[in-house]
Amino acid sequence: MIYLDAAGTTPVRREVLEAMWHYLTGDFGNASSHHELGERARSALEAARTDVARVLGCRPGEVTFTSGGTEADNLAVKGIALARRAADPQRSRVVVSAIEHPAVLESARSLARLHGFAVDVVPVDGAGRVAPEALAAVVGPQTAVVSVMYANNEVGTTQPIAELAAVAHAARVPFHTDAVQAAGALPLGVRDLGVDALSISGHKLGAPKGVGLLYASGRLSVEPLVDGGGQERGLRSGTENVAGAVALATALRLAEAERPTAAPRLAALRRTFVDRVTELVPDAVPTGDPEQRLPGSASFCFPRVSGESVLLELERRGVICSSGSACAAGSSDPSHVLLALGLDAETAQTAVRFTLPSTITGDELEAAALALSDSYAAVTGIARR
Ligand code: PLP
Repeated sequence: MIYLDAAGTTPVRREVLEAMWHYLTGDFGNASSHHELGERARSALEAARTDVARVLGCRPGEVTFTSGGTEADNLAVKGIALARRAADPQRSRVVVSAIEHPAVLESARSLARLHGFAVDVVPVDGAGRVAPEALAAVVGPQTAVVSVMYANNEVGTTQPIAELAAVAHAARVPFHTDAVQAAGALPLGVRDLGVDALSISGHKLGAPKGVGLLYASGRLSVEPLVDGGGQERGLRSGTENVAGAVALATALRLAEAERPTAAPRLAALRRTFVDRVTELVPDAVPTGDPEQRLPGSASFCFPRVSGESVLLELERRGVICSSGSACAAGSSDPSHVLLALGLDAETAQTAVRFTLPSTITGDELEAAALALSDSYAAVTGIARR
């Protein structure tokens, strides 16, 4: 099997499993208990928080562990908007880009439905980029929060986060970025990025599913979404997932240490793969920004050919990839991301996304490109050139 769906999820790394194992079996205590086992769990949790803070360049107290990227995005968008409006009632609008993950888009919609906020959606260009001017056009004195993702999960396009954050700040609006796909691939220093809040998910990085984190600047007020025993400084109640936090911190630390060599290697492999695919299947149209993109993400449309049929043929040939976002999988609606890029609904159904795990080799990608060419031929009846 050639696994090319790393944006969907990744296997747990051995080092990560080894690091977390001890906190599932040996020091399994509740981090809020006052006996020795509890205190050992607490130390591990705080060490994990410090490790994460080192990668993000923030203070440990600005890191909140969550149940994943979705919860971190919900906490950021809803928690910041609700706190901001409570402090200043005119701040009753939220701004999101048109290509956000549903975790952000639906959080904004929920604020509209349940709390009377208005939602402003910033358009993207044909490559999926948000122009700072486009953001400036919608951000104003009524905006409570802006959320624009660092890198898109479907087409791989990355955003000029520092410039966008500056636009939000000029209107005194906090800026959140969903860095779930960027983590491990792009720099995460929150000061350089200029962001007030940033979400990360463990399972895209070699940690297990069900753990994530939100960085939220100490200057920011955030309304908690989960009430209870007041864990995570009252921002996220519930017995802490110590092993998960250790796993996420370990995975993030490893990914960050490997990034200077892994990212250029993946980018070079991806470029060769895209060239090979467009050579073998001249109808293939790469989507997203050719330059400003995640190193390991290659996405295409195959006009007039169902992406799902290509996927099935690829899977028969041992290549695993995805038609778009795994989160929207099972839905037959065209992707909101591709529609926002200006593709028509029919073309948007023809998308196939290849996202490269860090262990991928050039030989595997050559085999995948040939399998794609065969799959395309099988679906369309066109023989390989
Ligand atoms: N944001 C983006 C950009 C994603 O790609 C994903 C997962 O696919 C999420 C958020 C949700 O993260 P999780 O699966 O940890 O809830």
